[in-house]
Amino acid sequence: MTIYRGTVLDTPEDPFTGGPLRAEADAGLLVRDGAILERGAYAEVRSRHPGEQVVDLSGGLVLPGFVDTHVHFPQVRAIGGLGMPLLDWLERCALPEEARLGDPSYAVSVAEEFVGGLTQAGTTTALVFGAHFAPAVDALFTEAARVGIRVTSGLVVSDRLLRDELLTTPERAYDESLALARRWHGVGRNRYAVIPRFSLSCGDDLLKACRAVLEEVEGGYFTSHINENVREIATVARLFELSHYLETYDQHHLVGPRSILAHNVHPTDAELRTLAERGASVAHCPTSNSALGSGLFPLTRHLAYGVHVALGSDVGAGTGFSLLKEGLQAYFMQQLLSEQGYQLAPAHLLHLATTAGATALGLSSEVGDLGVGKRFDAQWLRPRPSSTLDVALRNASGNEDALAKAFALGTPADVRTVWVDGDEVWSQEPA
Ligand SMILES: [Zn+2]
Repeated sequence: MTIYRGTVLDTPEDPFTGGPLRAEADAGLLVRDGAILERGAYAEVRSRHPGEQVVDLSGGLVLPGFVDTHVHFPQVRAIGGLGMPLLDWLERCALPEEARLGDPSYAVSVAEEFVGGLTQAGTTTALVFGAHFAPAVDALFTEAARVGIRVTSGLVVSDRLLRDELLTTPERAYDESLALARRWHGVGRNRYAVIPRFSLSCGDDLLKACRAVLEEVEGGYFTSHINENVREIATVARLFELSHYLETYDQHHLVGPRSILAHNVHPTDAELRTLAERGASVAHCPTSNSALGSGLFPLTRHLAYGVHVALGSDVGAGTGFSLLKEGLQAYFMQQLLSEQGYQLAPAHLLHLATTAGATALGLSSEVGDLGVGKRFDAQWLRPRPSSTLDVALRNASGNEDALAKAFALGTPADVRTVWVDGDEVWSQEPA
């Protein structure tokens, strides 16, 4: 057994319904076989287990591993394409890169870069938009399994209005998706998700095929995009004669408790009501929405309707893998919405980046916080001595203030070590 000693912060109870930040300045976590057996003041845990090995994580903060609920595997090299709205950005930046994943050896390299990007940012669980090519999706699952992070992903499908090499047919989509799900769903920490790119690029027969795959994959997930950009929404409205965007998925029974829809920047009240009724989640992607000028996320309306919201980096429209940056940008957005915005405290940001994502992915009994019984999926934020974050943490007025400083100043360079199930999946050389 191992005792991890450090300042441990997490949000086992939802701060949006009054849950506090749980914070212990000198905590001990006793871990055996990847599970947290005891948690308490370090001195007490230590006195009960004097012979066990101690890993000293004092200085900095110990947080749960982040849960990224929307991130694109093929787009790691497309990060930073600024100055375009969604549909132009897709055409000029994202889709040419997505097409390159048709080369399996290229896909293997990108898979390494992508999984490395997640772990180095402290992300231990992710719902990943895969590639349009089955061998590339194999490469992603293979790399995720090698490194050890928890990935839910699948083949991205489209059958219209994209570059030719990214298009498939309903029959091929069904066959390839099912074959991938049989290879990877429930294998190690991998799980399968059915992923039509967005309704704009998917006809009804393809969405029907997506539903058919979901019926075959027990415990499978559904994810796609929704209501990101006004031009996209207008195009979808022209293509489908339905009352709103959500109905393009809902009419095929794709919206339920295991569904996560990214963005939802411009929802109607009817859509929010339906999302809440179905128990579906929304992945809020604030740096992407800002970079593409998509709009300011109406968090207050989502909360008012009872729609579950988690955080996504949306790499490559998002500007990096760090959910610290996404949390900060989420905070900025709500501030910019002034009286329509939600006043986000540090505990809300941590919740959005951890427990909210675990709940959205049906993993909240295993990960998301560092309580007894949970898996030890964790990260140690330990900034370089005398860096601004180091100075800020040493002078913080308390744990909540320290967490605010981590969101304001933290970057992947501050993530010293990352664990999944108690196994180290990333560690920097000691500074
Ligand atoms: Zn996306």
